Amino acid sequence: MSKPARHILSLSGGKDSTALAIYMRDRLPQLEYVFCDTQKELPETYEYLDRLQAFLGKPIIRLNAERGFDHWLQLYGGYLPSSQMRWCTKNLKIIPFEKFVGDEQVLNYIGLRADEDREGYISHKPNIRPVYPFKEDGIVEADVFRILDESGLGLPKYSSWRTRSGCYFCFFQRRREWVGLKETHPDLFEKAKRYEKNDEATGIRYTWSQSESLVQLEDPKRVQAIKEKHAKALKAQSTSQPGRKLHQVFASILEEEDDTEPCLICHL
Ligand code: SF4
Repeated sequence: MSKPARHILSLSGGKDSTALAIYMRDRLPQLEYVFCDTQKELPETYEYLDRLQAFLGKPIIRLNAERGFDHWLQLYGGYLPSSQMRWCTKNLKIIPFEKFVGDEQVLNYIGLRADEDREGYISHKPNIRPVYPFKEDGIVEADVFRILDESGLGLPKYSSWRTRSGCYFCFFQRRREWVGLKETHPDLFEKAKRYEKNDEATGIRYTWSQSESLVQLEDPKRVQAIKEKHAKALKAQSTSQPGRKLHQVFASILEEEDDTEPCLICHL
C-alpha cells in the first residue's frame, strides 16, 4: 500500500500564507508548516513567524539552503538576482523545499487568493501537487484581513512601509519601499548598498534596480521626490476610496506603480 501524501503549507512570512495557516489549522491537523529561510529576511518577518508558531501550537519547520545567498552571488559572477534571473528563489527556496520533500507525494498548500490571477513560481516536481484552498473557497483579500484580525495576529509589522515579505534587499521592492527600508532599518539598507558594484573596467553596473543605484536613490532630494509622489497618490486614493485602511491604500498605490509579478514562494 502506498504511503499517504504529506500535507505541507508553504509560509513566506507574508499576510496571505499566514492567513492560510490560520484558516487551515483546525481543518487539517496533520498539516506541516514550512518556511524556507534565506537568512536575509526582515526582522519583522522572523517576529511574525514566531507569533504565528505560538498561535498554531506547532513548530514551523525552517529550511536553510546548504549554501547561502553570498555563495550563490559569487557563483553567478556578482550578478544580483532580478526578475529575469531569479536564481535566488531557485537556490534558496525551491531547492531546499524539494530536498526536504524528497520523493514523497506531497500536497503543497499555497495562499493564493480567489481575487488574484497570477502565475506562481513554485516547484514543478511531479510528486509535489499545489493546492489553493483560498481559491477553492472564494477567499478574497478582505477575508484575509478579517482572518488575521480575528486571530489577533494582525498584519506583519513591515506593512506600514512595505507590502511584500522576502529578503530585505529583494529586487521586487518599489522605490517607496527602499526608502522605507532606509528609514526603518538603516543598517540593512547599508548592507543592501554594499552588494551594489560598479565595474569601471567593463562599465557593468551591478545594482538591485536597473534604473538607479541605492546611492542615487538615497540622495535627500530623490528621497523627498519619491515620498512626495507617493504621498500625493495616497491622498488621491484615500479621497476617492474613503474607509479603506491606510495599509490597503499604500499597497494598491505600489501595485499601480509597478505590476511586476513577484513569486508565490517568497511573497505570499
Ligand atoms: S525574496 Fe526576493 S531576493 Fe529573496 S529569494 Fe525571493 S525573490 Fe529572491
